[in-house]
Amino acid sequence: MLNVVIFGAPGSGKGTQSELIIRKYELKHISTGEILRTEIKKRSELGLLADEYISKGQLVPDEVIIGMLETILNESKDVKGFIFDGFPRTLTQGEALDRMLREKDTSVAVVLNLSVEGKELVQRLLKRGEILGRSDDNPETIWSRLDVYHNQTEPLKEYYKKQGKLVTIKGDTVEDVFEKITDMLNRIL
Ligand code: AMP
Repeated sequence: MLNVVIFGAPGSGKGTQSELIIRKYELKHISTGEILRTEIKKRSELGLLADEYISKGQLVPDEVIIGMLETILNESKDVKGFIFDGFPRTLTQGEALDRMLREKDTSVAVVLNLSVEGKELVQRLLKRGEILGRSDDNPETIWSRLDVYHNQTEPLKEYYKKQGKLVTIKGDTVEDVFEKITDMLNRIL
């Protein structure tokens, strides 16, 4: 199995690159943000709970997210691998992911860290807010999401660096970043 974590700040291009990766490598895309937005639209119990956090730019509690992931992993049979997009976002989630994959005799192969400057991130998120109308792409929420990223998610970089799995990717265009990602993944395969 090829299990890839796509890592980076909000607006770093995780979703865009994940779409390109799944098409080329036939992996199963797990975007926790997308799953939660679907639940919000359905007005399910999970959606209503998640909305309280997402609308403020805060993280949904670990136990909720980890439980959700566990269900998805157990339901996914005969897949070539996963691309984890927006998960893990805390050290607790990172440790839980390692445990869940170990139980399936597999592990995270690589963590692709998409590196984009802070100013550029804010511009991209504001633009996305205008185009897609995502409720959390507004100025106040953007700042809190970037804060949450630095305080709660960035420490995971050290966690994966120690495991020798962190690869930082920087590029000027979507195509440029994707080329670097495919070079990396082809080397692993
Ligand atoms: P995203 O689409 O990945 O930017 O996620 C949108 C929002 O969903 C985040 O700002 C969080 O509120 C919530 N969310 C998504 N993934 C997670 C996660 N792994 N842990 C906690 N909250 C999450």
